[in-house]
Amino acid sequence: MAIIRKVLSILLVLEFAGFSRLAGGEPVAKPVDLLIRGAAVVTMNSDHDLFDPGYVAIDKGRIVAVGPVSELAGTRLRPRNIHDARGTVILPGLVNGHTHLAMTLLRGIADDLDLQEWLNRFIFPAEAKNLTREYVAAGTRLGLIEMIRGGITTYADMYYFEETVAEETKRAGLRAVLGQTMIDFPVADSRDWSEAMSRTESFIRRWKGDPLITPAPAPHALYTVSGDHLRQARDLAARHGVPLLTHLAEAPTETEYSLANFHLRPTAYLEQLGILNVPTILAHGVQLDQAEIGLLRKREAGIVHCPQSNMKLSSGTAPVPAMLKAGMRLGLGTDGAASNNDLNLWEEMDTAAKLHKLISGNPTAVSAVQALEMATIGGARALHLDDRIGSLEKGKLADLIVVGLDAPHQTPVYNLYSHLVYATKASDVRDLMVGGKWVMKRRRLLTLAEQPAMQEARLYRDKVARSLGLER
Ligand SMILES: [Zn+2]
Repeated sequence: MAIIRKVLSILLVLEFAGFSRLAGGEPVAKPVDLLIRGAAVVTMNSDHDLFDPGYVAIDKGRIVAVGPVSELAGTRLRPRNIHDARGTVILPGLVNGHTHLAMTLLRGIADDLDLQEWLNRFIFPAEAKNLTREYVAAGTRLGLIEMIRGGITTYADMYYFEETVAEETKRAGLRAVLGQTMIDFPVADSRDWSEAMSRTESFIRRWKGDPLITPAPAPHALYTVSGDHLRQARDLAARHGVPLLTHLAEAPTETEYSLANFHLRPTAYLEQLGILNVPTILAHGVQLDQAEIGLLRKREAGIVHCPQSNMKLSSGTAPVPAMLKAGMRLGLGTDGAASNNDLNLWEEMDTAAKLHKLISGNPTAVSAVQALEMATIGGARALHLDDRIGSLEKGKLADLIVVGLDAPHQTPVYNLYSHLVYATKASDVRDLMVGGKWVMKRRRLLTLAEQPAMQEARLYRDKVARSLGLER
């Protein structure tokens, strides 16, 4: 008996030390790179599992286990590093489904204007006079810093010199779907359509298969790119197995243009061209009717709702409750900083949840859970990355954030979902990890230098202001 007791106690010690037994009886451990434990873990999986206190185990950049701390002893995990996260919440990194990152340099250049006046008097001239590779790099760095500080681990971008955006994003360690903008008039990085096609194709060839960057063609919109050119962009996406990004149904003027020129509503026109046959990421969807929602659902299109940008430019209100009911791939986006004027997805969640209650006259429309879904797993679905990111589940990539709960505006806590959507601020994000690598720890940036990026942006501000003859 004494021997048996001794053997049992040795086994217990081994168990505690992280060893388990093989079928044959030999003990084996499950070594993992990192164990984060003690926080409330909001998984955003399909069952909405919430473990409080919970743990997340990470190995080789992936989540290998997630669950309640009470079950940790039975897992036989042997972590090389332990991150004690008591008093915080861990959730999937936020997904900013639509932005033009380098437009951070035009933040606040002109506000409270009609869309066409805003574009023609300020945005287009400012870009025509200032846009270079270096400008895009500077604007991207500033935008990356703002997004990291606000808990965004993945984003979708549409702009010029997208290879520069890719380089900066890769260096920063963030995940992104990057769309090279293609448009039917001369722009800073292409003189004409054929140059836009060739630079987009070489961009896709260069970045295809990268673990962080998904390159894509991004024809600007159906009113700035001809039908033939839209088809060529689709063929390019199909040939390389990448998604296609564009703006869709942003404003009534676009619907009028489509009806007048093609005798079809915008979505039916894209369908006729065969654009929806490849995985698409469509920004806005403000003007969609029920038939268009049905068609986009059938084609598995990703839609990105940008409530603050739509409100600021008075574009209208996207039919989000109907899109949620239809089960669409629906994410949230900030749009560019010039029309928002920040890259804060916490505000977009809060705005989305409240805007649709107001418009529908129904306080149960777009719940806090649904808003958080749009910012995490919904955004991952909209970007066609939901097999890899968007929720904290075994097998997914370790893209996550740790959010503090100890500020006055976070006190006390009754319901974590409503708390995250209606009370949490971007400044509450403490730590951020992408693919198992820390990008921010205790609000210290590990991959980017903040002060030089801000100083550079101020210098560009003066240059842009001078080029437009604006007063200081
Ligand atoms: Zn946009």
